[in-house]
Amino acid sequence: MDKYALNTDEEHTMDENGVHTDTDVVIVGGGLAGLAAACYLARGGASVRLYEKAARPGGRAATTVFEGYHLNLGAHALYSGGATEEVLRELGIAYVSHRPTDISVLREDRLYQFPDSISNLLRTKLLDLRDKLELGRIFAQLTGLKPASLARMSVSDWIAARARRPRVQQFLRMFACTNVYSAALDQVSAEVLIHKLQLSLKHPILYLDGGWQVLVDGLRQAAEQAGAQISTGVRVEAVEQRGRRVQGVRLANGHYVAARAVLIATTPREAIKLLDAVSAAPLGSYLATMLPAEIACLDVALRSLPDHAHPVVQDLEGPRFLTAQSRYAQIAPAGGAVIHTFKQLDPHHPSDPREDERELEGLLNRVQPGWRELLVRRVFLPRMDGVSMLPTTNIGGYAGRPKVQATGIERLLLAGDWIGEGFLADASMNSARQAAQLLLQQLSSRHIARAEAVLQ
Ligand SMILES: Cc1cc2nc3c(=O)[nH]c(=O)nc-3n(C[C@H](O)[C@H](O)[C@H](O)COP(=O)(O)OP(=O)(O)OC[C@H]3O[C@@H](n4cnc5c(N)ncnc54)[C@H](O)[C@@H]3O)c2cc1C
Repeated sequence: MDKYALNTDEEHTMDENGVHTDTDVVIVGGGLAGLAAACYLARGGASVRLYEKAARPGGRAATTVFEGYHLNLGAHALYSGGATEEVLRELGIAYVSHRPTDISVLREDRLYQFPDSISNLLRTKLLDLRDKLELGRIFAQLTGLKPASLARMSVSDWIAARARRPRVQQFLRMFACTNVYSAALDQVSAEVLIHKLQLSLKHPILYLDGGWQVLVDGLRQAAEQAGAQISTGVRVEAVEQRGRRVQGVRLANGHYVAARAVLIATTPREAIKLLDAVSAAPLGSYLATMLPAEIACLDVALRSLPDHAHPVVQDLEGPRFLTAQSRYAQIAPAGGAVIHTFKQLDPHHPSDPREDERELEGLLNRVQPGWRELLVRRVFLPRMDGVSMLPTTNIGGYAGRPKVQATGIERLLLAGDWIGEGFLADASMNSARQAAQLLLQQLSSRHIARAEAVLQ
């Protein structure tokens, strides 16, 4: 991105303590979206201040390190071929990744080969010959589908229309839950599933050495090197506006920070709290129809891995998944293991968190017997939003999600996993890049001159 010419005519305000603030863009939130946007903006020549309310940046992509074990907040994989990989490449963020293999399916306490290639489809005893022919045909037809044309069709309906055989339907439902991070298959748009499966046919999923903190640290360092100022432990209380113009932000400590533009890179519920009633109204309508992808996560660090033969397991009998990422990535001390398990939930059919935890323990018991005796640390996260706003059929898939300019207010943009196209971190990265590009255009002196002429 080219550096833009700063508009020196514009008035800069002082904060209440008389501290001069001369900031082009304030970013609220230091997750992947906020950090990536900070990099693009600072490299584009904007002065940037990013405020993160937590003690350290990263949001849902943070990794906790305990005695050499790196635990992400629930299982995280980089889905290559999407916006996350693209943005990391553009910004020069380095990471070391590994492709998981040896995937199994658990059915009635037996483990079977997962049919993730033609040879494994032929080999697996999970399905009979007719099942294999049907599943093979469905996968062969995937590449010809146009995901957007399925935006108003649910994943459930798509599976019912494609698969006749009960075992194939059961397999596809299980596989779909893992891919869309939700058990609400009657509401999630088939667009998401088909787009994701098409990507994964061509691009591997990757586990990262050091966990996702590597991405967070890399983005933070790149943003700071480009001149962005990142403050942690600072909560933004409100976006300050004069009429339809952004003036800056008010921090929870009462300080006022003037800025020409504000980028909100939080979850939707946090975003709406920052705005006055008029500006929040457009977002309110999105919130009313919003369905998050809720997951229950049980993450364990073990002195060793009980069963090396089955590191990655899909449970055919329920929306549950297990992955011993340490089998592939450097995230545990020598000999140690990190296992992530999760259950995809259906917010319209609430479950008891204690029961969810017991189910995940049950999965560990069956796949990794003896894990309790080897336990170093366990973390149960009962309700994590894997995706803040799922592309559902009622909103027309991705097209119905808010765009970076959804507030309708100039120089007040949005980024995050609920904005625009892309699933999971891909949406965060995609919207961060789009918002940064737009802000750099809006902040260029030519644009400001034009915009101000229109306002007068
Ligand atoms: C269990 C789980 C598994 C996942 N697995 C994958 C995966 O395999 N692959 C993948 O691509 N994605 C995955 N994701 C999704 C991925 O983690 C998120 O898409 C991504 O981290 C979201 O980044 P974000 O910056 O958009 O939002 P967040 O990470 O939510 O960041 C928002 C930040 O804003 C801060 N904030 C909020 N309000 C304020 C305020 N008022 N003032 C200051 N700061 C504020 C928050 O503290 C937070 O740090 C997973 C998510 C979960 C929960």
